[in-house]
This record gives sequence, C-alpha cells and structure tokens, in this order.
Amino acid sequence: VLGGGFAGLHAVKRLRRTPVEVLLIDRTNHHLFQPLLYQVATAGLSPNDVAHPLRAIFKHQRNAAVLMAQVRGLRPAERQVVLRRGDPIEYDWLIVALGSRHSYFGHSEWERAAPGLKTLDDALAIREKILVSFERAERAAARGQAVDPGLLTFVVVGGGPTGVEMAGAIAEIARQTLRRNFRFIDPKDTRVFLVEAQEFLLPPFPVELRESARRQLEGLGVDVRLGTMVVAIDESGVELEGPDVDAATGDARRRERIATDNVIWAAGNEVPSLLDDLGIERDRQGRVPVGPDLSIAGHPEVFVVGDACRFEQDGRPLPGLAPVAMQQGKHAARCVAADLDGGARRPFRYADRGTMATIGKARAVAWIRGLRFSGLPAWLAWSLVHVLFLIGFRNRLSVMIEWIYLFFTGQRGARLLYGQSLRRIED
Ligand SMILES: Cc1cc2nc3c(=O)[nH]c(=O)nc-3n(C[C@H](O)[C@H](O)[C@H](O)COP(=O)(O)OP(=O)(O)OC[C@H]3O[C@@H](n4cnc5c(N)ncnc54)[C@H](O)[C@@H]3O)c2cc1C
Repeated sequence: VLGGGFAGLHAVKRLRRTPVEVLLIDRTNHHLFQPLLYQVATAGLSPNDVAHPLRAIFKHQRNAAVLMAQVRGLRPAERQVVLRRGDPIEYDWLIVALGSRHSYFGHSEWERAAPGLKTLDDALAIREKILVSFERAERAAARGQAVDPGLLTFVVVGGGPTGVEMAGAIAEIARQTLRRNFRFIDPKDTRVFLVEAQEFLLPPFPVELRESARRQLEGLGVDVRLGTMVVAIDESGVELEGPDVDAATGDARRRERIATDNVIWAAGNEVPSLLDDLGIERDRQGRVPVGPDLSIAGHPEVFVVGDACRFEQDGRPLPGLAPVAMQQGKHAARCVAADLDGGARRPFRYADRGTMATIGKARAVAWIRGLRFSGLPAWLAWSLVHVLFLIGFRNRLSVMIEWIYLFFTGQRGARLLYGQSLRRIED
C-alpha cells in the first residue's frame, strides 16, 4: 500500500483479517488529518494534534509493517515499486494511495511566494510567515518607521473549503487572538482577501450555503473577490484581474495589484507525475482513471484510490474528499480479499453522507442528507465530526480542549516562533 493518508490507512486496516502480508510505504512516519491542517497553519492546533504515527496506529495489526521511504517509480509489468534508496519492492497486489499536491496551473514559479497547504511542513511554514509578518510590522512601528502595508495584508487564493477556512482563521487571528497583544500596531488594520476565479465560493455546496459562507466571511471582515483571476504573483504582491469595468481604460476586466508579503495558495490539485509509470492516460489534474472495482486497465492487481484516482459516478468524477478516499481504500482491500476467496469483486459506489466547511468560531455551512444549515449549528456539527474522525484518543482530547479554550477566550495555543524566525524578523 503506497501512502498512509486516508485511503491507504483504511485499506491497511480493512486487510487486518485477510491472510496477506501488508507493507505500508509512506515518506512520512505519520498519518495526517489534512482537514484540520489549516488550524496548524493558523496557530490553533499543534502538529501533534492533527497527525498520528503510523507505527502506533498499526502496532496491534500483526500482518502489517510500515516502511518510511520515498516512492520513486512503479513497474507494473514487473510488479515492482521503486524507492529512492534501496532495492525495488515486489508485490502481488498494489494499492496506490499517494494523494495529490497543489497545482499552480503551469506557474510553478508562484510557489515560492504563494505556498500551498498539504503537509505539516507547509502548515508550519505558513504559520511562521503569518506570525513573522505581525512581528515585523510591530518592529517597524516601534522604531517609528512606516509599516509596509504588505505585512498586514493577506491574500488567500482559492474559494474552496481550504481557502474559506484559511481566510476566516486569519481574520479571526487579527481581530480576536492578537487583540491587545501589540503596542505599536493595531492587528485590526489587517486586510484579508479571498480570491476566487468562479462566481461563487465552495463549489460542492448548494447556492444558498455558498452565499451564506460569503456573508459569514464578510462578517469577519474578509474582502471576498469572486470572478477574479490571479494573473501574477511575486515576492511583493499579487496582480488580480477582476470583473469590474476599469475606469481608466474602459476594459471590462479590471487589473489590480495588491501589495502583500502573504499569499496563500489554496486553488488546485495535481497528482504526482510518478503515476505516469502506470502507462495510463491521466486526466487534466493528473488523476488515473480506474474501472468499477478501482483497478487500472490491464492490471487488475493494481488499484488507485483517493485523490490520485478518477472515478466517475453518475456521470461525474468524485471530488477529492477524505470520505471518498476512506471508502475507496476499504473497497480496494475488499477486492483483494475477494480475489483470495475466489469471489467476485464488487463495483465501488460512494455513499455521500454530507459536506461541511467551517469559516470561524460559530460560523460554518453544512449540507447533510439534504438538510442545509449554517452558523452555530453547522459549526457544532463540523466540530463533532472532525473530532470523531481524528485518529487517536489523545488527539481527540487535546483538540477538544484547544477548541473549548479558543471558543471562550479567542486565544490560539500554538503561536510560538523558533528556529530561523528571528532572522526573518530582523532581515
Ligand atoms: C488543507 C486541506 C483541507 C482539507 N479539508 C477537507 C475537508 O474539510 N473535508 C474533506 O473531506 N476533505 C478535505 N481535504 C481533502 C482530503 O484531505 C483528501 O481528499 C484526502 O486526504 C485524500 O486522501 P488520500 O489518501 O488520497 O491522500 P493523502 O491523505 O494526501 O495521503 C497521501 C499519502 O501519500 C504519501 N506520499 C505521497 N507521495 C509519496 C511518495 N512519493 N512516497 C511515499 N509516500 C508518499 C503522503 O505522505 C501521504 O501520507 C482537505 C485537504 C487539504 C490539503
């Protein structure tokens, strides 16, 4: 099983009673609960709260071993997996669950100035960037210098759940968490922009919830720019092309530059190119098309699951969501068990149990079994589901304590700066 994310983890768990030896390979030593990663990036939670060591998860599963290694290539004809270091690994069945990375739509040069959020390293880098910006602004103001407005300007690109959560959390940091923490700047002067190319936020949600999310964000002071494209990003700002008429030129699309040190990319996904080795033509996002049992054409022993796979249900590809990945991981494992029992593999069908997104304290939207709700009830449902799905009792307990504390005090517990941060503040 390649990848210990949602799909890989549930595949290995489901193989617990199947008479096979399972090797789980991941380049990290932990399973990461990505839906709460933005809370690490915005100082609400610590890395420990949202990740759990894979070895601890499988310590009681005797047929499962974990190898921390980077997968470099796949050789389906030889039934081998190539690692960055060491001999290739042979398999009888292969479950590929390597997830996705953010995509910059052909502008990989934007990544330096506009980091995305996918791993713990990404989250810690963004957290440092946010906290360092406030420190630098305070330092300049304390010395009587003009504060670079870019330091207190945050631009989040992408109006999906991650972008909405990030923009809401940064606005809350500025207005609540950091209130009365500084003497020379007022964090309330912070400007937060959320930029989305489509005319709406949160594409999977019904129209009224998209609208509700926009209103809730604006209530937090976020400047939501819909129908707006990012056309350039560099170290000192972003250039946007928006829908209004440009008074100067009469153009129907208006260009605007926002000076900012803080651009956060939450706009697109792309599957790792090593999946080319499977020899199957991939879709625009690099996803591998799979058959009804989630295996690839010509190789019934190779399954691709989770974000890396393209599976169409009712004429549409399934979205990259944790429940889709979990159900697909389990399904691939069931197919392996069916092969061993001499039974037939069943076709996969995703059971959609609802979608939620949070915006901030007591602000969220939820769409569960046809029911649509927002605000505090949606936020409580979101909190409950996320705590329940976290791996590990310690993580659940500590996340609950942090959230209760945050709810009543507005304070975020994970705001320490260390390592090279001082240099970045002084530079
Ligand atoms: C910030 C963020 C917020 C999200 N919020 C939500 C949400 O609220 N609700 C929701 O349903 N979904 C959410 N998602 C999407 C959800 O997390 C993904 O759909 C899900 O993680 C996909 O599972 P996966 O197993 O396919 O991939 P992943 O969970 O990404 O796991 C892939 C694994 O493969 C490993 N790996 C990758 N490449 C290699 C390699 N070359 N060698 C070895 N190991 C490798 C990685 O270390 C990782 O452990 C969010 C995603 C992000 C990034």
